[in-house]
Amino acid sequence: MEGRVLVLGAGFAGLELATCLSEELGEDAGVILIDANDSFVFGYSKLDVMFGRTDPEAVRLRYADIDKPGVRFLRERITAIDPENRSVTTEAGTHSADHLVVALGAGYDPDATPGLILERNEFYSVAGAEHLAGVVPGFREGHAVIGVCGAPYKCPPAPSEACLLLHDQLVASGTRERATITFVSPLPTPVPPSPATSEALLEAFAERGIEFRGGVRVEAVDEPGSAVRLDDGTELPCDLFLGVPKHRAADVVLKSGLAEDGYVPVDARTLQTRFPGVHACGDVAMVGVPKAGVFAEGAARIVAAAIAAQARGGTSPETYAGQGSCYIEFGGGRVGRVDVDFLGGPQPTGVFQPPSDALVAEKEHFGASRRARWF
Ligand SMILES: Cc1cc2nc3c(=O)[nH]c(=O)nc-3n(C[C@H](O)[C@H](O)[C@H](O)COP(=O)(O)OP(=O)(O)OC[C@H]3O[C@@H](n4cnc5c(N)ncnc54)[C@H](O)[C@@H]3O)c2cc1C
Repeated sequence: MEGRVLVLGAGFAGLELATCLSEELGEDAGVILIDANDSFVFGYSKLDVMFGRTDPEAVRLRYADIDKPGVRFLRERITAIDPENRSVTTEAGTHSADHLVVALGAGYDPDATPGLILERNEFYSVAGAEHLAGVVPGFREGHAVIGVCGAPYKCPPAPSEACLLLHDQLVASGTRERATITFVSPLPTPVPPSPATSEALLEAFAERGIEFRGGVRVEAVDEPGSAVRLDDGTELPCDLFLGVPKHRAADVVLKSGLAEDGYVPVDARTLQTRFPGVHACGDVAMVGVPKAGVFAEGAARIVAAAIAAQARGGTSPETYAGQGSCYIEFGGGRVGRVDVDFLGGPQPTGVFQPPSDALVAEKEHFGASRRARWF
C-alpha cells in the first residue's frame, strides 16, 4: 500500500478529514488528498460572486497552500474507484491505501432540465455565479425566477438568500417596483426541518413582495428566456432565471459499485460503506442529513477519529450526531442561523436564531476559521 489514507475530494469533508488526521497523527498520517481542481471555494461565496460583492479570484483558496504534516495533495482527476481493493485510477496513474474515503461531493445533472445551462443560468458553480454577476446588474425590470430543478440540493436556504439579495439589488437600482421575484422550490417550505425559520423567511418574502411557490420544481427553462415550465404543468413568465440544477453524484462514483439510488449508502453513525476500509462522507453519502458543508465536516471528523484510533490499535467511541448550524442571509446585511438536529430524535428539528449583528460576525468567523485551519 502507498499510504494510510486516500481521501478522494478536497471539499468541506476532505479538507476537514485531512486536517484532523494530520493533527492526530502528524507525519504518520499518510494522507493522500486528491482533487481535480486547484482550489476550494465556500458554497456561500458563490452568492457573493453573483451579487458582485467580491470577485472569483478573491474567494479561491489554493490547494498549493496546504502544508500539513503527513498530508500530500495531488491535483488529479479520478477516473475509476475500486472499493474492493481500496484503490483509484486517475489521469496520472493509480493509488491505493489501507483506508479509502470518498468525499467527492454532489455534481450537477443539467440534462435533466432542458434549458438549464451550466455556467450560464445557474449559480451553484463558481463559473455560473461569475457569469450571472455580469447579467444580474442589467436586470432592471420584468420577471425574475429563482428556481430549483430537483431535490435534494445543497444548502436548502441558499435560493431563499438569492431572492432576498436580488430584492436588495433591485431596491439599490431604484427599479424594484418594475420587477417581480418568484421562488420555485420542490420543498413545501423554505427550510422544512425548522418551521420557525421557514416562517421568518416567508415573512421576509411577504414584506418584500417575493412570491414563494413551494412543492413544485422547474422542469424546463426557455433559454434565452421568456418562460419556465414547472412540473405541475404551469408556466411562469421569466426574463431572468437564477437556477439550482438537479444534483447527482459524479459518474466515477456511480460507476464504482458504491452507489445506490444515486448516492453512496453508509452507516449513518460510522459513515462506513459496505466495503471494508471504505468510508463515504459529505454530499456524496446518503446519511439522511442535508447536503451542506457543516454536515460534511462533522461527518469527516467521525471518520478521522475512527482511522486515527485504528492507527493506534484501538477503536473510536465517537459516532455521527447529524447536527449542524447554517447561516442565512436575510438581506440588508443581516444574517440569521438555523441549528438543526437530524439524527437526535424521531423527526429532524431546527431552532431559529433571528438575524443579528453577532451572527454576521459569527458567519465571518466560520469562514475565516476554516480557511486558517485547512490552508
Ligand atoms: C450557493 C451555495 C451556498 C452554500 N452555502 C452553504 C452554507 O452557508 N453553509 C454550508 O454548510 N454549506 C453551504 N453550501 C453547501 C456546501 O458547499 C456543500 O454542501 C459542501 O461543499 C459539501 O462538501 P463535500 O466535501 O461533500 O463536497 P464538495 O465541497 O463539493 O467537495 C467535493 C470535491 O470533490 C472534487 N471532485 C469531484 N469529482 C472529482 C473527480 N472525478 N476527481 C477529482 N476530484 C473530484 C471536487 O472538485 C470537489 O472539490 C452551499 C452550496 C452552494 C452551492
